[in-house]
Amino acid sequence: MVCVSFFGSLCQAVHVAAQYGQTAFLHHIISKYSADFEALDNDGRSPLHWAAYKGNADTIRLLLFMDANQVRQDKNGCTPLHWAAIRGNFEVCTVLVHAGTKEELKLKDSGGFTPVELANDKGHRHLSSILSNATKVTFEDKYCPGRSRKIGYAPILFCFLVVLITLFLNSIIFAPNFSRITAAVGLWSWGAISLAFASIVMLYRVSRKNPGYIQANTKRLDPKEPLMEIDLNSSAWTGNWSQLCPTCKIIRPVRSKHCPTCKHCVEQFDHHCPWISNCVGKRNKWDFFVFLCMGTTTAFLGAAIGFHRLWTEPIILSSSESWINFMLANHPGALLFMFLDVFLLTGALILTGAQAIQIARNVTTNEAANRSRYAYLRGPDGRFRNPYNQGCRRNCADFLVNGYSNDEEATWPTLRQTVERS
Ligand SMILES: [Zn+2]
Repeated sequence: MVCVSFFGSLCQAVHVAAQYGQTAFLHHIISKYSADFEALDNDGRSPLHWAAYKGNADTIRLLLFMDANQVRQDKNGCTPLHWAAIRGNFEVCTVLVHAGTKEELKLKDSGGFTPVELANDKGHRHLSSILSNATKVTFEDKYCPGRSRKIGYAPILFCFLVVLITLFLNSIIFAPNFSRITAAVGLWSWGAISLAFASIVMLYRVSRKNPGYIQANTKRLDPKEPLMEIDLNSSAWTGNWSQLCPTCKIIRPVRSKHCPTCKHCVEQFDHHCPWISNCVGKRNKWDFFVFLCMGTTTAFLGAAIGFHRLWTEPIILSSSESWINFMLANHPGALLFMFLDVFLLTGALILTGAQAIQIARNVTTNEAANRSRYAYLRGPDGRFRNPYNQGCRRNCADFLVNGYSNDEEATWPTLRQTVERS
């Protein structure tokens, strides 16, 4: 099975299938006829090189799943990542980077260029900066290389909340230069402080809770184990090649995604939140939403009480003194609290609103941001269509009762139709 491609290279059926993104055919000839998926054309390019050059991400997932060599360099010294960087294909580069190592990003072609330099040279600035960031060795990579869970910003958020509570107590409630607090304001204040401590407990809970990690196929990850077939009769398989995870070596359920930070596939992946140092997924989305609601309510109560204390404070200004100068001189802690609290309230409100809208529409942050990537989110006319949306009331009820949307069975026929049509 050899042919001559339009680039003049002598190549085999595996190369042509990779060039045209015929992933199902490629899988068929590899599994049924033991076609060599590492075969090289006369320029030293493997099917993985061609799939990367042509931007066929699903074909790349299949080849990487089968342990295709992603560091092989062709006669020009180019790896598949070099070719993907030249073409500026973001999805292909992402798949290759996640499945590879930092060292692979530093490989140079025969001209002495790395993939980052090639992407930059071809004007793909955004891709170049993302690849450049992927090459950086972080503090945690250097000092905690074996650590499976990243520290992230959760400790910073924890300290920020503790500082806010301290400022609230010292500069708003018990500040000696403020007038005596009334019983009603005192009651609201203790409510706000209780909510703030409950938010900290919730932060710990949401950052430690399993977001819905899918067990990696450890047997398949062992290089000494023989190549295993992809079980297309698996209950998770709906016919989407994007369901193959080249890193975990599993067929992952639809709506799940591999998180490169957590190094796991996560069920109903929403997003990786650095502020909780964890992914948000099927198993902790309810906790995350409750944490956001508690944070928003606490910040709102704190701002309202702070504003009330400042507003009702009797001010005696001298002729040359402005209000802000008086406040800075007499209540600097209260002003600092108000600034930090309003900053937190703004961020928390935006996040809570966005999450609430997505819950009502039963769509994840990942799906909303990358809708064009997923075939199951496209209707017959090619436009966005969410098969999981069962109406605002049902979506919200499912989420509030179960903590996640239990939608696999309800949408299975729709997913099958999508696959058959494509
Ligand atoms: Zn994975």
